[in-house]
Amino acid sequence: MAKSKVQHRDKPKSTVECAQPAADQSLPAPDLAEADAIAEAIKSVGARKPRVRMHFNRPNGAMFDPPHDDDGGFAYRLLDAFGTESTEFMSQAISLLCATLRAKGERLPTEHKLNAAIAVIDGMRPRDEIEAMLGIQIVSTHEVAMEMLAKAKHAEHSAQLQEYGTLATKLMRTFAAQIEALSRMRRGGEQKVTVEHVHVHSGGQAVVGVVNPSEGGAQSKMEDNPMHLPMQRSPRCAARTRAGTLCQSPAMANGRCRMHGGCAGAPRGERNGNWRHGHFTCEAIAERRQSKTVLRTARSFLESLPLPPKTKG
Ligand SMILES: [Zn+2]
Repeated sequence: MAKSKVQHRDKPKSTVECAQPAADQSLPAPDLAEADAIAEAIKSVGARKPRVRMHFNRPNGAMFDPPHDDDGGFAYRLLDAFGTESTEFMSQAISLLCATLRAKGERLPTEHKLNAAIAVIDGMRPRDEIEAMLGIQIVSTHEVAMEMLAKAKHAEHSAQLQEYGTLATKLMRTFAAQIEALSRMRRGGEQKVTVEHVHVHSGGQAVVGVVNPSEGGAQSKMEDNPMHLPMQRSPRCAARTRAGTLCQSPAMANGRCRMHGGCAGAPRGERNGNWRHGHFTCEAIAERRQSKTVLRTARSFLESLPLPPKTKG
């Protein structure tokens, strides 16, 4: 795809265009995916309604000028952007925006900043003055919140970080509340409806609606008890606990849990740490005991035999 330049409508030169560096011949052409994305972006941006923009005319002290020669048309665009037909409200709205957006010590914000803010409000399409006022508050809150966040980021000690961080958090919470207020206004105070998916497994029952567990508990009880999953039906340890109940922990292959069925007792034979010569192993002791028993039995048997009395020699 050949390099294509975005064909802008009769828009004033935006800052984005100004910020674009001069085409560098050493840079590669965008690849296929990027070219596709560019084409899509051109289509999508082209479909958007151009936001109203102002032109600052600082040298002669006049605040704003339209970026074209249609003064009346520009005034209508501004009125529409602020959802009003009152020029007083519109000019008041712009001066409020200027007051919150201007940098410290400056009389006015930059053209860039003001146009960005107006783009937000224009994009919100306020339907009336109240919505426009919310728009101004949203822009201003966002502006200050971001400033506090930047200050918190560059804080030099923890007290500063804490202070700016807290302020930023509060402002961002306010921002979210403002957005919520706007959408609530647009919903007209309708009740929120949540659509959720409910899966009912075979043999299961589902209750749609509010389930009060204190009433009809048996009916709302699930048939598919998660406590009866195959996993939960695994063999259990049957060792008797001190309370007299069964252990019930998952059992190992030997039928006992890891606490009850581990290698019982100390290792046998030479694997035992106390093994010296094997003379006192259970096996050796039992063997000796066995042989002694055999010996004892043999002796008593011999004694029971009717042997002729020994002759005195
Ligand atoms: Zn056990």
